[in-house]
This record gives sequence, C-alpha cells and structure tokens, in this order.
Amino acid sequence: MLRLPAFEYHRPRTVGEALELVDRYGDDAMYVAGGTDLVPNMKHRLFTPGHLVALKGIGELKGIEVKGDHLDIGAGETLSSVAAHPEVRKRFSSLADAAGHVAGPQLRNAGTIGGNVCLDTRCTYYNQTEFWRKALGYCLKKDGTVCHVTKVGKKCVAAHSADTPPALITLDGEVEVRGPGGVRTVSVSDFFVPDGIWNARREPGEIVTRIRVPLPEDGEGDEGELRTGYAKLRQRDSIDFPLLTVAVAGWIAPDGRVRKLRGVVTALGSRPRELTGWDEIAEGELLGDEVVEALAQRAHKQCRPLDNIIVDPDWRRAMVPVYVRRALEPLREAESGAGQAAA
Ligand SMILES: Cc1cc2nc3c(=O)[nH]c(=O)nc-3n(C[C@H](O)[C@H](O)[C@H](O)COP(=O)(O)OP(=O)(O)OC[C@H]3O[C@@H](n4cnc5c(N)ncnc54)[C@H](O)[C@@H]3O)c2cc1C
Ligand code: SF4
Repeated sequence: MLRLPAFEYHRPRTVGEALELVDRYGDDAMYVAGGTDLVPNMKHRLFTPGHLVALKGIGELKGIEVKGDHLDIGAGETLSSVAAHPEVRKRFSSLADAAGHVAGPQLRNAGTIGGNVCLDTRCTYYNQTEFWRKALGYCLKKDGTVCHVTKVGKKCVAAHSADTPPALITLDGEVEVRGPGGVRTVSVSDFFVPDGIWNARREPGEIVTRIRVPLPEDGEGDEGELRTGYAKLRQRDSIDFPLLTVAVAGWIAPDGRVRKLRGVVTALGSRPRELTGWDEIAEGELLGDEVVEALAQRAHKQCRPLDNIIVDPDWRRAMVPVYVRRALEPLREAESGAGQAAA
C-alpha cells in the first residue's frame, strides 16, 4: 500500500488567508482543492509538502453564473457541477462534455475545474512510485538529469493531460489569478507554456480564482451561431486520462456556412495546441464531408505525439483525424446546434 507522507492540513476561509499561509510556509506549502491529482502524486513522492493549504472551504471560489457579457465559474466548483450546470450545458456544451468526461464520477465529484486547469503534466516515466523511478534512474522533471523520452534533450516534454483547457481555449476563456502581487487575468490560451516541468504562467503561490468565458452573440449576430464539439480518446471509457482530446468551436452563419472555426488538441505535448490553417479551409464553406476531411488531414499533419504517455504514439497520431471528425460532428447538426460528441 502506498502511504502519504506526513503533512499539516490548513483550512483557510478566504483567498487572503490561503495566500498568507503559502507565503508563511514558502516552498514547503502547496494548495489542494479536490486532491484527486495531488494526493496520488504525494503517494508517489512526486511532491512532499509539509503543509497543505485547502481551497475547499473558500466561498469566494464557488459559484457559476452569467455576469454581464460572460459566464463566470468559480475555480472551486467541482467538475460534476460544471458538467451539469444548465448555463454551461446550454451555452458551451464542449466545456460541459469535457468536464463530464474527466476521470470517473467519484473523482468528478471531488475534483475541481481550478485543479483541472492547474493539473500537473503526466509522463510514463514520472507518474510512478518512488521505487520504480529510482530503479530506472530519476528524470529531469523530478530529481534527475536526463529525459527518458527524448534521451538527449534537456527539456521535459511530459503531456498536458487536462480535459477542460482545450474547450476553454476554443471559447476564448480567461483565468483570474490572485497572488501576493494582486489580481491578474490571463487568457487560457496564454496560460500554458511548452515546459513539462511547470507548464503554466502561474507562480506556485498564486491561486486560480475564477474562470470566465465570454458569451456568444445571438445566432443572427455578425459572428453567427456558436456550435461546439469535444471528443476524447482514452483506454477505458469510464475513468482514464486522455490519450488525445480535441475541442472545436465554430461560428456558423444562418445559411450553415462557417464564419470562424477553432480547434485545439491536447495530451500530445506539454501544452494544449491550437490547430492552424482551419479558417483558410472552412471560412465561407458548408461543413460538408470534403471540408471536414481537409480539416482532419490538416490536423493530422500538425500533430506528432511523443512517446511520453502510455500507448503507441503512431497509433495516437492515426487517431487525430478520427477524433477531429467526431468533434466536428455537432457543428454539422444544423437544426439542433451544439450536441454531444465525447467518445
Ligand atoms: C484515476 C484518475 C483519472 C483521471 N482522469 C482524468 C482525466 O481523464 N482528465 C483530466 O483532466 N484529469 C483527470 N484526472 C486528474 C484529476 O482528477 C482532475 O484533473 C481534477 O480536475 C483535478 O482537480 P483537483 O481539484 O482534484 O486538483 P488537486 O489534485 O487538488 O490539485 C491539482 C494541482 O493543482 C493545484 N491547484 C488546485 N486548485 C488550484 C487553484 N484554484 N489555484 C492554484 N492551484 C490549484 C494543486 O496545488 C495541485 O498542484 C484523473 C485522476 C485520477 C486519479
Ligand atoms: S518527459 Fe522526460 S523529463 Fe519529462 S517527465 Fe517524462 S521522462 Fe521525465
């Protein structure tokens, strides 16, 4: 049985108190929300903080509501509540689907959307017990000097493996971050950097407090009707981390022609990747079979999975066009608008 290292547990009631605690204990403190990722990682001795600062009891991190021109989601909301919330389902079905396909039901009841955005990267050579990692020889991301994936490189390429950020990026979502220096807002697209050791533009002492998604215009507006899709490849359909996630958002004119289209994939490298060249293919077109195929092949050209997570990278690459087609399916359903594409 894997045991947790000893730690002291703190229950602040406000974001200010949480920031003070982490300031007091410095590198020896970490935030914990649902604990669904941090606790297993602590059992593997990937993190051994002497102080855990719980975000669970902080009311300021709760709430999901439409505020002016955006949907405002507290970082402390569980994935289950995000997935089930009527405003999320009605307006951004890809986000609801992404949240609703993280792990399994128990983990979604505990895991939060803030924890999902701040999820540590994953790798076959990293998410292992201390005994396993020591036997092989530690790696760059934790205690070692080599990368077992690239062999020669001095860079960690562990995989960004969180489901909700790709959907948030296609929707132009933003995160609000609070730290000792005050409050700032970062687009989710700029929040991630290609560094598997720490892949976020967030200092360890900063807290993600809110996630905001701009509301789309009404269907007849200049931008067109927003339709979204999401598809996830995983080993078991009930609980696993993604081997590949595709999120798409399209703004469609009343005649069904594409005004704007965005696609983001993840679980390949250390940050989510925006697919490029899609507007050139799809703008002004109907999403017929030929256009969808061209989009799928364009994505295939751009995605080159590494041998960083379990399952053959060549097979994962071959699945890219398959999952792009699946993610685009709800955008083609002219009458019903956004639908369910997660697989
Ligand atoms: C079996 C299993 C399967 C899983 N499958 C998936 C999956 O398919 N897809 C997926 O995306 N995830 C998956 N996960 C990971 C995890 O359950 C989710 O990502 C979840 O959303 C993490 O949220 P949490 O609140 O539990 O985060 P925690 O575990 O509490 O924290 C994760 C990290 O984020 C930091 N953190 C948490 N909240 C904040 C905040 N508000 N501000 C700053 N830092 C913060 C913590 O310090 C920690 O470093 C899986 C986990 C398990 C155990
Ligand atoms: S990608 Fe390399 S450095 Fe990063 S966790 Fe995996 S083996 Fe370690």
